[in-house]
Amino acid sequence: MENNQSRRNFIKATAIIGAGALLTNTKLNALAPGDAPFATLPALPYDYAALEPHIDMLTMQIHHDKHHKTYVDKLNEAMAKETYTPPPSLESLFETISAKSVAIRNHGGGHYNHSMFWQIMTPKHTDTIPDKLKTAIDASFGNVETLKKQMNDAASKRFGSGWAWLVQQKDKLVVSSTPNQDNPLMDVAEVKGQPLIGIDVWEHAYYLKYQNKRGDYLDAWWNVVNWNEVAKRMR
Ligand code: MN
Repeated sequence: MENNQSRRNFIKATAIIGAGALLTNTKLNALAPGDAPFATLPALPYDYAALEPHIDMLTMQIHHDKHHKTYVDKLNEAMAKETYTPPPSLESLFETISAKSVAIRNHGGGHYNHSMFWQIMTPKHTDTIPDKLKTAIDASFGNVETLKKQMNDAASKRFGSGWAWLVQQKDKLVVSSTPNQDNPLMDVAEVKGQPLIGIDVWEHAYYLKYQNKRGDYLDAWWNVVNWNEVAKRMR
């Protein structure tokens, strides 16, 4: 008879998510005491204050240390309760998210979306866009200014909490938005594809500095976009 622990160890796999900043352990069964958690909180790739004045330090601190940490903790709690076979990565979990619990959808999405969000921002922003991405933007939108306008528009019109997305669909790029912590990798998304940019438009992402002025936050956000990381996310 196969030993359960060795079976689980055998099946343990490591998946790289997004830009490769996030490691995720997977296992056959629900978590047992002492097992490594399904998800871990990735460190910010810069200081809390690094995105000032566009994104303020306190917002970054609370957003990462409290909000993102809660998504990770609650995702681990939810995964520990589940008994189905977990997938090798969050991405593959999203393919059938409509069949999973609301907790896994919300906190799994929250974990993935924020892990990406930290990576696609940088204090060393430049306007130079890698060729492959620039070509795709020009082909789909005409120019980068039109892309920004469409993204800001989608982000402004998203009622309540959610995300605005730049999504890759093979050779084409499209703009969309999702409610809550959904994302374009989920089977429930209206517009599906590879997420290249996600802008968090939950109030916790901007309210301390921008209060009700979501548009000002969106205009400022493009001053910290990390075009190199966005390009790396292309498939
Ligand atoms: Mn957030």
